[in-house]
Amino acid sequence: MHDLHIHLGGAVPSSVLWEILCDNGLKTEYVDFDSFHASLSARPDEVKSLDDFLGRYFEVTEEIQSSPSAASVSAYQVVAKAYRRAQIDAIELRFNPYKRVRHGLHTMDAIILAVMQGLERASLHYGVATGMILSLGRDLSLEANWQIIDAAIKWRSRGSLNGANGVVGIDMAGPESRALELSKPWMSEVTAMMEKAREAGLKITYHVGESEATGPEGILRVVEQIRPDRIGHGIELRNAQGKQKETLLKLLREHQICLELCPTVNLVTRVIPDYACIANFVRDLAHEEIPYCINTDNPYLIHTNLKNEHEIVAKELGADGETLLALGIEHSARHRFLKI
Ligand SMILES: [Zn+2]
Repeated sequence: MHDLHIHLGGAVPSSVLWEILCDNGLKTEYVDFDSFHASLSARPDEVKSLDDFLGRYFEVTEEIQSSPSAASVSAYQVVAKAYRRAQIDAIELRFNPYKRVRHGLHTMDAIILAVMQGLERASLHYGVATGMILSLGRDLSLEANWQIIDAAIKWRSRGSLNGANGVVGIDMAGPESRALELSKPWMSEVTAMMEKAREAGLKITYHVGESEATGPEGILRVVEQIRPDRIGHGIELRNAQGKQKETLLKLLREHQICLELCPTVNLVTRVIPDYACIANFVRDLAHEEIPYCINTDNPYLIHTNLKNEHEIVAKELGADGETLLALGIEHSARHRFLKI
């Protein structure tokens, strides 16, 4: 099983982050481990929306991971835990290096190198293929996002060494509430960024349609203009109607754009009411011959792992479970960015 959609900011156990926090002598509002641990457990009855989820947890975890040593340990622990819990054989870990430079104290190069070294160790120790996806931020300036693109190109993968691939792709992440995908000037600049990355040999994935803020229209704009290799979530496709739906299904099928589904996080951020919703979506995608794969997104924050996510979806799918999940695993092997 591959995990192709997992964030460094949401996948590191609180015990590891606490150790880093204490060792680095970071001043925070947390007086002890218990209050820190409790603050990093996302519960559906607490989280109000996707924006709330991102703001509530990521600022803290990104701040703690903002040094080369912290970034390296964090990356290693994500893979180690994912292997122990779900016996994954490949992982594409995404993170935003710009958000980990601690207000300019560190360079992005140092952070990227540190994550790469953490993943190299993990690949060697656990026999898991690893790759990095650098996330751009909707909440960052265009200039900062260009810097991430240039860093990704500089550090792009030169192939696999003992399973470790280095930077294999670019992602867009961050709050959807401003619906920037519907803004023409912003989209034309981001399209140019993605083009540059693609020309340098990087693959593209893009968080969109994760909530109604970007919705089916956001997915359509991204597919038409950027033509990503994969889409993060795209769950809002289920709300598309009429001509828009027809166009979207056709484009996703024709270009075989793989939807990275992450069931539990959609429930936690109140985007879907129940798991049956995801199961029905999987059935529809299979029927429409649109590729999909199951992932964890933020396994630590939402207390899940890849095996668990598969079991949840299988249970909801009932008799079709085995076949449709096997198809998802096949899609993830075909649409992964890293080389094994
Ligand atoms: Zn995500």
